[in-house]
Amino acid sequence: MQNTPFDTPDVTLITPTATVATPTHGGRAKCLQRLVRLNLPVPQTVALSFSTVHQIATGVLPDVDGILQRFKDGCLLCVRPSSEDPDWGGPGAVLNIGMNDARFVELSDRIGADAAAQIYKRFVQTYAIHVARLDPDIFDDIADDGQIGLGQSLRAYEDEAEEGFPQSPARQLAEVLRSMARAWEGTTARLLRQAKGAPMDAGLGLVVQEMALGLGQGECGSGVLQLVNSRTGENQITGRYLSQSQGREALDGGTRALFLERDPRGPSLEELAPEAFAELNAHAALMRQRLREEMQIEFTIENGELHILDGVRAKRSPQAAVRISVALAEDGIIPRHEALLRVDPHALTELLHRQVADDADRDVLGAGIAASPGAATGRIVFTAADAQASAARGEACILVRRETAPEDIRGMHAASAILTERGGMTSHAAVIGRGMGLPCIVGAARMKFHVQRKKLISEDGRSLSEGDIITIDGTSGQILAGAPKMVEAAQDDVFRTLMSWADAERDIGVRANADTPADAQTARNFDAQGIGLCRTEHMFFEEDRLTPMREMIFANSAQDRKATLALILPMQRADFTELFRIMQGQPVCIRLFDPPLHEFLPHDRAGLRDMAEALDMPVSEVTRRVESMGEYNPMLGMRGVRLGVTVPEIYDMQARAIFEATLDASRDGAPVVPEIMIPLVSAKREVEIVRTRIDAVAAAVRNERGKDFTYRLGVMAETPRACLRAEEIAQHAHFLSFGTNDLTQMTYGLSRDDAGRFMSDYVKLGVFNEDPFHVLDTDGVGELVKLGVQRGRAGREGITMSVCGEHGGNPESIAFCRAVGVDYVSCSPFRVPIARLSAAQLAIRDKMESGKY
Ligand code: PEP
Ligand code: MG
Repeated sequence: MQNTPFDTPDVTLITPTATVATPTHGGRAKCLQRLVRLNLPVPQTVALSFSTVHQIATGVLPDVDGILQRFKDGCLLCVRPSSEDPDWGGPGAVLNIGMNDARFVELSDRIGADAAAQIYKRFVQTYAIHVARLDPDIFDDIADDGQIGLGQSLRAYEDEAEEGFPQSPARQLAEVLRSMARAWEGTTARLLRQAKGAPMDAGLGLVVQEMALGLGQGECGSGVLQLVNSRTGENQITGRYLSQSQGREALDGGTRALFLERDPRGPSLEELAPEAFAELNAHAALMRQRLREEMQIEFTIENGELHILDGVRAKRSPQAAVRISVALAEDGIIPRHEALLRVDPHALTELLHRQVADDADRDVLGAGIAASPGAATGRIVFTAADAQASAARGEACILVRRETAPEDIRGMHAASAILTERGGMTSHAAVIGRGMGLPCIVGAARMKFHVQRKKLISEDGRSLSEGDIITIDGTSGQILAGAPKMVEAAQDDVFRTLMSWADAERDIGVRANADTPADAQTARNFDAQGIGLCRTEHMFFEEDRLTPMREMIFANSAQDRKATLALILPMQRADFTELFRIMQGQPVCIRLFDPPLHEFLPHDRAGLRDMAEALDMPVSEVTRRVESMGEYNPMLGMRGVRLGVTVPEIYDMQARAIFEATLDASRDGAPVVPEIMIPLVSAKREVEIVRTRIDAVAAAVRNERGKDFTYRLGVMAETPRACLRAEEIAQHAHFLSFGTNDLTQMTYGLSRDDAGRFMSDYVKLGVFNEDPFHVLDTDGVGELVKLGVQRGRAGREGITMSVCGEHGGNPESIAFCRAVGVDYVSCSPFRVPIARLSAAQLAIRDKMESGKY
């Protein structure tokens, strides 16, 4: 094909050398040019640029006769949309433009009157509905597909439009172009594509292509082919072919449609037209190789001859996206770093957890904050004890609470998913849910939670009781009735291969937040480079520890406290030894006790009675003591290092347990260098006081055991003051770890447990772009992190910096952390792969920018 003198970049025949580009003509036009360059049998095509189409929408038409002159006389045309990104949609294609009474006669001679009538009738109806905008009902009673049906359709058009069907191909083409251009500029279409990420001013290109008919004599038909399965990504020729059809009809062709490859389920194109099939396959393989992508091909066979009409990127599930990228790299078609860039880290979530299937029916009962991804079905239970009983019967259950507290932990372990009325991204249920990989929705405040009466009322007023089956979709935040269809998690060898490539690229570390041996094992399975945060308070809620813990809280003197802590010490030592053993010499960062003590005390009558029994005290005395420990703002009260300074025996016990476990685990495994972290610091003196005591405990353990060990002491920077005073605080610390959950709470003055109530309104109204507990607020909270890193490094050269708040597993937040110079991020074990891939992509993009790739 030669460029003609008519060609300009705005209206151009697609030739190998024409000026056609995705940002100006759209992806379809560009892809067609690539196919032309590969010498594939693509019918003659003209591309119209975004600016031309925009002009058409405002009423300025290009030279339509000039466009028609680029095609063979008497051929039919189709017009297809060509947007920059195919996911942004666009108006539907219009086929068979140019069909009129004269061409009907010519075509009848060539392909038979019935086939010609069918083509003409289809065009009349499509034109009437999509271009002339007539009421589709006018064709409702027309059943005949031949000449009778054609006559009826033409008459119906004439009656409704009050003029005959336009016979001029130029007028037909002009009207089609105008209607497609206007459809793209309409408000509904714009809002729809903006929802898919398109910019306000996204353009539309159009391609005008000669039709290969697909109807007529000899073997004629159309079909769609791709070389992979869109769900699994495995190599498999998929698609259908339908004789005497056009466009994508084969995909809706039911049993009349043929398989492509020979198939035991029914007849195939391979058997019907072996040569065309072989040619099609060869073209598809060439496209994969040269377009460096798995494509879906639209093709037509006209009297035995194959035409390739179009190629679009094959649709794919996240699982398929991983497999396709890895296969393209392993076949040497794309480099590994490009394979890594082609997988969306957010989409990995779907590979790490069971999900509600895309095509499942969703009977939505309500919605809340999607706090921990994945989906689970089970019977509703309203208490942690019922969840345990349900698990003991082997019945899956969903734990429904107003909010969860540490005492619910065993019930949470027993449940398949968690639903709470209150809370936000970093409230107790959310943090624990993510840690355990348990689907969780919090802040579902539009549903009514009558926990005492064991009733849950859906947003539309349906009443659910204990034992009813619901599904928690923690990925979307929807609560669904019943048990919709699910798809299983799929971390296979291909996933691991991709992850190993990611590890070779990234330049920041990724650790996991893990509190229990099970979490630590998950962290290892996901190849975390150690534990970045072990929240030790989660270890105190086991039945055998709660009572000594309560005794310790109620103790009247330091002496009594020590005695009860001595009961807890061996248990903590065993916890830490186990963690160190599982992590096999990798760093383990243990945070000293953080929450307010009263969280360990019972809140209801039954609990108070149990406690009175265990401590051999009158209920009234227990009640009085519990009440006296209450605080107005416990999250800003006697917690974290404040507890360590005022009740130092707890940290002493924990330090001893850590050091003894260090020696025990080092005896028969890799040497352990524990990291001890002090929470909620706001002043340098707090660190000095705690450090002096911990050093003394270390010296005592060294003496008693006659063995040496080292340890690293660090500070959690999670109050604004700790960030601002990082320079002096860093002088006493080997590392600073930014606790961005508390830091967000304190910077905004926004309770992390209550934010769920208004967060969705705030995001909807654009007050916040995102939930700041989910995506780090780089402007405010981020500014404090940045200052903290700079000042901390000024105070102590080479100090390790990390982020261990939930943001450590969020791709956008990781980009910020890396940019400000954080050494590693630490996140829930199930988010470790997401963090590994995100970090790799950031490093790759930097290398690309600096020309290293
Ligand atoms: C934090 O505050 O960011 C943090 C990691 O600690 P926690 O969530 O346990 O308060
Ligand atoms: Mg914190």
